[in-house]
Amino acid sequence: MKIHEYQGKELLKKFGVVVPRGVFSSSVDDAVKAAESLGGKVWVVKAQIHAGGRGKGGGVKVAKSLDEVRQYAGEILGMQLVTHQTGPTGQKVRRLLIEEGADIKKEYYVAALTDRVTQTVAMMASSEGGMNIEEVAHETPEKILKAFVDPAVGLTDAQATELAKGIGVPEASVGKAVAALKGLYTCYMETDASLAEINPLILEGDGNIKALDAKFNFDSNALYRHPEIVAYRDLDEEDADEVEASKFDLTYISLDGNIGCLVNGAGLAMATMDTIKLFGAEPANFLDVGGGATTEKVTEAFKIMLKNPKVKGILVNIFGGIMRCDTIADGVVAAARETHLTVPLVVRMKGTNEDIGKKILKDSGLPIITANSMAEAATKIVAAVK
Ligand code: ADP
Ligand code: MG
Repeated sequence: MKIHEYQGKELLKKFGVVVPRGVFSSSVDDAVKAAESLGGKVWVVKAQIHAGGRGKGGGVKVAKSLDEVRQYAGEILGMQLVTHQTGPTGQKVRRLLIEEGADIKKEYYVAALTDRVTQTVAMMASSEGGMNIEEVAHETPEKILKAFVDPAVGLTDAQATELAKGIGVPEASVGKAVAALKGLYTCYMETDASLAEINPLILEGDGNIKALDAKFNFDSNALYRHPEIVAYRDLDEEDADEVEASKFDLTYISLDGNIGCLVNGAGLAMATMDTIKLFGAEPANFLDVGGGATTEKVTEAFKIMLKNPKVKGILVNIFGGIMRCDTIADGVVAAARETHLTVPLVVRMKGTNEDIGKKILKDSGLPIITANSMAEAATKIVAAVK
């Protein structure tokens, strides 16, 4: 799950990372009021969308008067902001952060993320923060320093100091940078984030260190223990079909192909997508109905898949373990009837109550194509959509 910058800054602040003063707003008038309440002479009007690269896309503007705040808020609110992370259609801006302008002397990059290879938390830092970090990572990767943190020990003062000095933080501000790094690490750990990134972390003219941006990803498997993070969820920023699916506890990700797949278990769902590709076609989605699928859930899954106009056929691949094949068969038949299914449907099921399941499909009188192996199922669905 992702959150907005202003929410990320609230979290960072809780963990002692200094952030600029800012006010969230969702209308032009509120944006101007926000700037007035902040005071000062320079404000930054910042589009809040769940994607980075906003500055380059025209979603971050420095205003030097309240009139400019009004003008930029008007321009940015409602715009379709295109960045390298939104895809070509962009994302509509519905929310703004109005922030005091910072006196930037130097922009650094710092981040915490899970490093699967070393099974540690990788703390990354670079002297080349700001809007071109992707290029830095690509062209001069040696400018990105890393410290691997054993989660049982935590980020040590020595590690944080080495990073701060390594990216060139002046001696007088090293202590503040160390505090920011440690705050970032603790925030990352305590919130079960999978990524926490501050780009830029800045050095101000007076020697202070501040987080000017905040980007978080959270491990959705841990959200059950973080109601405060779930409360940050913004459905406007998420794929509508994926949101609908999550209401029914279905894990659905839309893709570009034309074969819808309904599978139980994430591993089997991945393998099913691979098999479809191996046989020369492309999956239209990833869909894991989970372990406890009911008739209702299967019907919803069909409805969501069929909403996608690209879907020209459906492949159901079920391994009956705890889940019984007859339950799935009942669900498939009910779903096919309720959705007046017109595209070809191939069903492969193996395991508990497989025979009963197959009989239900056969007795339904529906034109369901059955298959025994994954290869057979893939061959049949690919042939059916071609
Ligand atoms: P993004 O990474 O999505 O482009 P940022 O929040 O990093 O958005 O903003 C882009 C750039 O705008 C920053 O690198 C910084 O130079 C400038 N900026 C952002 N916030 C402020 C601020 N409060 N004061 C001054 N400059 C800012
Ligand atoms: Mg940024």
